[in-house]
Amino acid sequence: MGRLFIESLNGPKIFKCKCCKVDSASHDDIISKDFQGRYGRAYLFKNVVNISLGPNEDRHLMSGLHTVNDIYCSSCQQILGWRYEKAYEESEKYKEGLFILEKERMLKEGW
Ligand SMILES: [Zn+2]
Repeated sequence: MGRLFIESLNGPKIFKCKCCKVDSASHDDIISKDFQGRYGRAYLFKNVVNISLGPNEDRHLMSGLHTVNDIYCSSCQQILGWRYEKAYEESEKYKEGLFILEKERMLKEGW
């Protein structure tokens, strides 16, 4: 049986998966806190860890059509958010390759 590799993040402010408590992202990697997810407020990150990506999907979001991949926790398979693969509007291009994590699915431990 393969053993799952779990990456740990350094720093005082780490977001963890609410379900299994592995590290998901560092507070330092937040680009914006002003996003809307499926379950309410969501944050835009430049880097997240311990995730697996779903297939490319075209999705109509509030900011228009995007190709996205759902993000799953690689430890517990809980859906955590999505990644922007491609944006079609010029003004949304900066999001390509960035990650949305749902605040509802994250845990702030010790801060
Ligand atoms: Zn998890």
